[in-house]
Amino acid sequence: MASDAHADSQHGGPPAMTAPRIRSIEETRCCVVGGGPAGAVLSLLLARQGIPVMLLEAHEDFDRDFRGDTIHPAILDILDEIGLAVPLLELPYTKLRAVSAPGLSGSTPLITFSHLRTRFPFIALMPQVRFLEYIIGEAQRYPSFHLVMGAGVQELIVDSGVVRGVRYRSKDAWHEVRALLTVAADGRYSRMRKLSGLPQPIKASPPLDLVWFRLRRNPDDGEGLMGRAGPGHFMVLLDRGDQWQVGYSIAKGSYPEVHAAGLGALRASIAAIAPDLADRVGALQDWKQLALLSVEADRLPRWYRPGLLFIGDAAHVMSPVGGNGINYAIQDAAAAANILSGPLRAGALTLGNLAAVQRRREWPVRMTQAVVTMMQNLQGFALSHAPTSPAVRSVPTPVRLLLRLPILSDVPARWVAFGLWPVHLRPEIRVARTPLLDAPNTGPRASSQAGHTAAQA
Ligand SMILES: Cc1cc2nc3c(=O)[nH]c(=O)nc-3n(C[C@H](O)[C@H](O)[C@H](O)COP(=O)(O)OP(=O)(O)OC[C@H]3O[C@@H](n4cnc5c(N)ncnc54)[C@H](O)[C@@H]3O)c2cc1C
Repeated sequence: MASDAHADSQHGGPPAMTAPRIRSIEETRCCVVGGGPAGAVLSLLLARQGIPVMLLEAHEDFDRDFRGDTIHPAILDILDEIGLAVPLLELPYTKLRAVSAPGLSGSTPLITFSHLRTRFPFIALMPQVRFLEYIIGEAQRYPSFHLVMGAGVQELIVDSGVVRGVRYRSKDAWHEVRALLTVAADGRYSRMRKLSGLPQPIKASPPLDLVWFRLRRNPDDGEGLMGRAGPGHFMVLLDRGDQWQVGYSIAKGSYPEVHAAGLGALRASIAAIAPDLADRVGALQDWKQLALLSVEADRLPRWYRPGLLFIGDAAHVMSPVGGNGINYAIQDAAAAANILSGPLRAGALTLGNLAAVQRRREWPVRMTQAVVTMMQNLQGFALSHAPTSPAVRSVPTPVRLLLRLPILSDVPARWVAFGLWPVHLRPEIRVARTPLLDAPNTGPRASSQAGHTAAQA
């Protein structure tokens, strides 16, 4: 059975000559690859509809390096539509009610969320691991949800041009999942993209990279999100409790020069841009404390092929500079649930259904990527020409006054809070169609009675 199944696959793993033995074959309705924000939320939304869904996550847990902690009002609105925003916000988080522009000093925030028409006029800063654990915990209350951790997807199963599922490797063996629909939500380094045979992504070329590190945060530092700038660099500081997560911008591809100049030069530059952090930059003693993030943005020209759909960063990598990635990934998940729940429940999915998801989400993604690219280019230009006097770097008074006019301040605030053309769950998706389990469904085969079938190969 193992070799038969293997013969009709599209490879990304070992060559056919060394075809691995498949330990198990499981069937589900929707196989989601990647337990980031997009994959986790989509799985939850489908499981609530009673649709058998299997989520495969390569890591053993959800705790990995910093990838953004921002939960925007649009996401809170979506979660509120299924009654989960308020319980989520019972977990520890920081309220970000306003944003000042990185690259400009001055005490007046450029964007305030307080007057937006939503129950949640703020960005909630919550460690992504807590958010994902909460969403997964909720999904595990439904019998049709099945999570496999430590499941690195390696191959697609393709039959007559239609993707029928995936083959993944766990610690000790290979396994197969067969599904009506496979959703690739495996993030910015998506292996599924390479396996899919879809046309190459269209790249935007942001002119900068970011160096990430952490510095101590003192109780009197201020909170939320702060920006600082100096000639050639800007810094974004994100509140993570007793630490600041700091992003320090450098010109694209210039990390080797930053490294060659030495840690002393970097510390001096940080202290010059943010004098209030000068008392703690000395903690940066080893390059291992710093991580380079190559700022990328791209999008697939086509997000689907028969049996396979891309969402989130796997479909479109958003620049971290705009802070849009999580917001857009989860809105993709919500749009996919809106459009695909009916066909998945009925077991009759068409290519038109998958195309409809791309149609719903592509325009907001493209527009947002274009705006962020323009902002990055402008910012790069402004920084390379920035004077050193802090007085000249503050927001000019006329701009500040203009941004106090609700009609003008609303535009950027709404864009950051909701993104373009925000997604809301359809009324029929808001209602859970399956009974809750008494105990969370965490066992490896716990859900096999509810639509998943397992066989030993
Ligand atoms: C340093 C950094 C800072 C950022 N800051 C912000 C921010 O402040 N705000 C914001 O909105 N966005 C931010 N982003 C972007 C944000 O992290 C992404 O846009 C968002 O996480 C995309 O969600 P996703 O679910 O599509 O993909 P991901 O979050 O990347 O999740 C993909 C998942 O797929 C899993 N996976 C990968 N390959 C496989 C495989 N073969 N098999 C099984 N599983 C697999 C991965 O382990 C991962 O869990 C930041 C990104 C980075 C790198």
